[in-house]
Amino acid sequence: MSDTAALKARRERLLGRNMSLFYSDPVHIVRGEGVWLYDADGRRYLDCYNNVPHVGHCHPRVVEAIARQASTLNTHTRYLHEGILDYVERLTATFDRRLDTAILTCTGSEANDIALRMAQAVTGKTGVIATDHTYHGNTTAVSQLSTRMPPVGGFSGHVRHVPAPDSYRPLGGTPGDAFSAAVAKAIADLQESPFGFSALIIDPFFANEGFPDLPEGFLDATVAAVRKAGGVVIADEVQPGFGRTGGHMWGHQKAGIVPDIVTLGKPMGNGHPIGGVVAGSDTLNAFRQAFRYFNTFGGNPVSCAAAMAVLDVIDDEALIDNAREVGAYAKAGLDRLRHKHDVIGDIRGSGLFFGAELVLDREKKTPATDLATRVVNGMRERGVLMGKLGIHQNATKIRPPMPFSRENADLMLSTLDDVLSGL
Ligand code: PMP
Repeated sequence: MSDTAALKARRERLLGRNMSLFYSDPVHIVRGEGVWLYDADGRRYLDCYNNVPHVGHCHPRVVEAIARQASTLNTHTRYLHEGILDYVERLTATFDRRLDTAILTCTGSEANDIALRMAQAVTGKTGVIATDHTYHGNTTAVSQLSTRMPPVGGFSGHVRHVPAPDSYRPLGGTPGDAFSAAVAKAIADLQESPFGFSALIIDPFFANEGFPDLPEGFLDATVAAVRKAGGVVIADEVQPGFGRTGGHMWGHQKAGIVPDIVTLGKPMGNGHPIGGVVAGSDTLNAFRQAFRYFNTFGGNPVSCAAAMAVLDVIDDEALIDNAREVGAYAKAGLDRLRHKHDVIGDIRGSGLFFGAELVLDREKKTPATDLATRVVNGMRERGVLMGKLGIHQNATKIRPPMPFSRENADLMLSTLDDVLSGL
């Protein structure tokens, strides 16, 4: 048996079946540095996928911050410690001044779980609206929001799904109006139900939905409808947050809205497990009053040190500017490939989160879902790691660590050109 086959068999025996694994020929990574990953044979891969090592794999400043704090103190949050305070102060300074308090967690799922309960505490209602192609996490409560895998026993009645915005195959009408009309209808429906209307939860960049290109002000009417109905807006920043989209620290800032609650995760600790919920103090205090909440590991000194180092590096290495510049450069390169390869139907995204939607027929926009899988595997064979996502699972997902350079983009583009030429 090959090493890969043996590891796969061992993984399945110890961790169970159906645990997701990328690529038809899985990669056995043993080391990372910056935008590069190295496998067990020493082969180097350009990482165009991973947003968790936000400031680069094993960034020395994050590693040093973790090591320093881990060798000084690590404990839960029932003692006084400056680490969590300094971090929350620094973090909330990047938000609208109304969003001035935070709860720290270990994952994005926990953060969204808290956000839903905060909305309950504020409104006294439980009904939630989400898009029909979203993902907000893995707890019992938040997995009710995802349509991909219906929960055992079916969906409970308090969730309404609205069609995810799709700039390539729009629903018709003005995009913002179509979305806000669907949300208004769902609000009315919940208000008629025993659950009432509590919250709209969206990723303001709609990353898992395939990051549609949306006009300025797209969410304005939707946010107004939510507020008019006495509900709260939850912005899930697990994907677009920390400057990923270039030019803005937060996806909701790019979308031009101020949410009531913001949730954070993935990139926050550069791989160290830390997430969080940011909200106004009234909202947070209402939650603390309605629910007794303690999280053993959330906000521990080591996690806060890692997260603080991430903010330092984002600033010191001007990574948000880099995301804007290199993202625009790479997107322009993809556009050139579109003129050469008919299979590229649409190019979308912002900053270092972009990709191409692959189609079998440009006129009919027929999703090339299987072909997208072949492209992703072909890239992996040639040493470039990326993924796919979207409503039809046919959009390439390019979301590299933030120090991604123009040279890295050139390598990604020339490899993609090769793969598409060989189809
Ligand atoms: N929200 C969004 C938008 C996500 O994409 C994810 C994870 N992919 C989560 C929440 C859940 O985060 P975690 O896996 O850290 O629980």
